[in-house]
Amino acid sequence: MGSVGTVDQPEAGVVMPARGQYSDIVSYSQAHLRLKTDRGRADQYECITCGGQAREWAYMGDGSDALTDDLGRLYSTDQTAYEPMCVACHRRHDRAVADGRPIDECPRGHKWDEANTGIRRSRSKGVGLRFCRACHRENAAERRERLRMEAA
Ligand SMILES: [Zn+2]
Ligand SMILES: [Zn+2]
Repeated sequence: MGSVGTVDQPEAGVVMPARGQYSDIVSYSQAHLRLKTDRGRADQYECITCGGQAREWAYMGDGSDALTDDLGRLYSTDQTAYEPMCVACHRRHDRAVADGRPIDECPRGHKWDEANTGIRRSRSKGVGLRFCRACHRENAAERRERLRMEAA
């Protein structure tokens, strides 16, 4: 860990072919278009972290199957590497990746371990979606608190 730039590691930004789900190499926008076609728009889902209205598909992979576009954005032809997120959680996630923080944590820093990872089925597509149980507990508590304040 932490040995960035050693000789036996591929250089960051090198475009590696994906695991062969598709024989052709697709662009960033083509990959996102396929995502939309196969899994639907992100705003049909709830954000996997906070449970709010999702707006964007967030790349959640560990980078092992990732491609990099001209702008340095990571993407993948593996659609299971994406999760729906709201804009705030997505930005937080991207910052964590940019800072080199582990992405086996949700954007708020909860571990994605077995006990904390819930699986929900989307209403429209029947795709298994994971969500952070700790965030949902916190959100529910915040919602209760807000309602209590409003009622007071
Ligand atoms: Zn969110
Ligand atoms: Zn969380």
